[in-house]
Amino acid sequence: MGEGILLFDGAWGTMLMERGMKAGETSEAWILDRPADIAAVHKMYFDAGADIVSTATLGATTLKLAHYGLAERTAEINRQGAELAKGVCPPGRFVAGDIGSTGKLLAPAGDADEKALAEAFTLQAFALAEGGVDLFIIETMIDVREALIALEAARSTGLPVFVTISFAKKPRGYFTIMGDRPEDSAVRLADAGAAAVGTNCYLRIGDMIEVVEQMKRAVTIPIIAQPNAGNPAVERGVTSFADGPEVFSERTPDLIRAGARIVGGCCGTTPETTRRMREVIDTH
Ligand SMILES: [Zn+2]
Repeated sequence: MGEGILLFDGAWGTMLMERGMKAGETSEAWILDRPADIAAVHKMYFDAGADIVSTATLGATTLKLAHYGLAERTAEINRQGAELAKGVCPPGRFVAGDIGSTGKLLAPAGDADEKALAEAFTLQAFALAEGGVDLFIIETMIDVREALIALEAARSTGLPVFVTISFAKKPRGYFTIMGDRPEDSAVRLADAGAAAVGTNCYLRIGDMIEVVEQMKRAVTIPIIAQPNAGNPAVERGVTSFADGPEVFSERTPDLIRAGARIVGGCCGTTPETTRRMREVIDTH
């Protein structure tokens, strides 16, 4: 089963909180202020067996960084974010430049201008490329139109681009907040030149298996799946998630059978989740 499967890393939240990150702080600011901690988390994921780690730059567009007074430092944050991950990347493994939503909605839901989004994504993508990323992961997108703008910007660097969309489960199936369905999203992104397409966040592994099956029927490029670990529960001061590493260990074969060729974890997953997925991929 392990043949040709690529393993992505997991979430950041818990690891950075353990290192003292407070509510309201961002991993993007830590790239500048706490670079050793960012590099240490990347290294934990590589040590756990991830083939690809994502830079800590999910919110590093000028449009988002402006909320923290960091817009002027956008290029520096992305370049350094890439360099921190590349600095701990073993031979034969990869760093994906992470690009997320600008948080601005396009019409009719909002008043974002396509040109402003394209400029923001282009600046981010070129700074990540300059920092040495091997590919891009555009993730947690809830509007396929915004994902397509980011895809075009990232592709203009010449590097491969993976794109994952976040779907919620509704009575009539899986939809983004903007009403996009998995099959149609996969086709539009594949047609626009994505090297791989898939889904991340919002859903737990069981539901995500259904989304993967739907996307798999629609396109021939590799499918990516990075599920959440479910809701957190705090007991005696220790946070745990509904789907711990053992659930990922049990269900990863189903995710792969459903058609995922690139797997990993999203919110609530840890290096232990990655380690267990590595084990399953290598031995199953
Ligand atoms: Zn997530």
